[in-house]
Amino acid sequence: MEEQDDTEHPQEHRITTAELGPFCFARCSCGWRGPARRARSLARAEGQKHAMG
Ligand SMILES: [Zn+2]
Repeated sequence: MEEQDDTEHPQEHRITTAELGPFCFARCSCGWRGPARRARSLARAEGQKHAMG
């Protein structure tokens, strides 16, 4: 039986925002990606909403 316990918080959600042309969207370290928005603040808000739950 092998144990690998050196992974730190695999379920952590780290939100970053990326720009795509005139749009902006949120990305998460878990692989989630939010819809493209014109307002970066909105994209980030949606990302934080995802990260919370
Ligand atoms: Zn996530």
